[in-house]
Amino acid sequence: MAVSREEPLYLDFAASTPPADEVVDAMMPWLRQLHANPHSDHWHGRRAAEAIEVAREAVADLINASSEDVIFTSGATEANNLALKGLLSGAGPRQRLWLADIEHKSLLESAHALASAGVKVGRIAVNGGGLVDLDAFGENLECMDATAGVVAVGHGNNEIGTVQPVEALALMARRYGHLLHVDATQSAGRLTVDVDALSCDLLALSAHKIYGPGGIGALYVSAEGRREMRPILHGGGQEGGLRSGTVPVFLAVGFGTAARIARSRIAEDQVHLAQLAREFLEALSEARISFVAVGSMEHRLPGHLSLRFPGVDAEDLLSLMAPSLSVSTGAACSAGELRASSVLRALGLSENDASEVIRFTFGRISHLDGARRAAADVVFAVQRARARGS
Ligand code: PMP
Repeated sequence: MAVSREEPLYLDFAASTPPADEVVDAMMPWLRQLHANPHSDHWHGRRAAEAIEVAREAVADLINASSEDVIFTSGATEANNLALKGLLSGAGPRQRLWLADIEHKSLLESAHALASAGVKVGRIAVNGGGLVDLDAFGENLECMDATAGVVAVGHGNNEIGTVQPVEALALMARRYGHLLHVDATQSAGRLTVDVDALSCDLLALSAHKIYGPGGIGALYVSAEGRREMRPILHGGGQEGGLRSGTVPVFLAVGFGTAARIARSRIAEDQVHLAQLAREFLEALSEARISFVAVGSMEHRLPGHLSLRFPGVDAEDLLSLMAPSLSVSTGAACSAGELRASSVLRALGLSENDASEVIRFTFGRISHLDGARRAAADVVFAVQRARARGS
């Protein structure tokens, strides 16, 4: 039974953010009268190509990169695939990959595919707070042979919201001649993401996580990365030969607009998101329902909470809250089979504990009233679930 008859609340902004009104407005002419193939050499084509370059500048500005180092892709999944496979497939000089078990599937599954093709994949350990263990990683690097490789890390974790010490990893990677790839899909627009400050060689982005349209993302590739990178899609040689395929103009324009807005209001968004999360947590604490925060609270994406309600199965809680609240569990449903999230297991949570975790992610358009109402709904649902011995 639903716990509220009001409008359902969307608290799943880590999964996707709705395109901002300005984004939709900017895209419309490119879906209508201005539509053209940006690679065509005529008036319409050239205007479309110009619009793509303006968008590329805006995306580059968001991460303090040069626009010539930004490649448009279909999303962060493709950007992560291109980063890893583009550097490690084939007989290139790099034959080793390092990453943690808590990364997004697009990195983990790419690693899996590369391992089957002979690339040596090493794991970066994470601690109970969901942060990479730099000491253990340093020791691992120390005792390895000199094979050059790639270190891949998610800046902000999509499931638990922790923020990794990317600068420290970059230093370590560099010392051993490895390139660093950063998946900034969750952090861009929420934290300052600066490719120079992070000292990374590659960085993945997705438009639909920053209030842009779905179906487009980008990969930043430094000059050094570019020298070694090979395309994984072959065709017309667009995007500097690294990503063949017609660039969708309306999506690029939407992405550029979203990037421009994100950059202009990052501080404002951070304050707002932090306040929403604080209100929500305070309301839960005041109601005295027991819960445990999963992952470091100190190193955390603003507005991103991963909470465990001991003794309450997250799926049961979700159905008690539905359709009042749209949130996600920490469990990944693959091929119809529900399994405890491998990310939560990697943090040391037991199968049972991992099945009690729910992710609440706030967004730019969330309101304080909504955060309070969401907390009240959660409290009600947790109390009901505990009363009936979930
Ligand atoms: N990396 C992270 C950290 C993500 O959260 C996501 C989306 N869930 C992706 C990559 C994949 O992004 P896209 O949907 O653009 O393929």
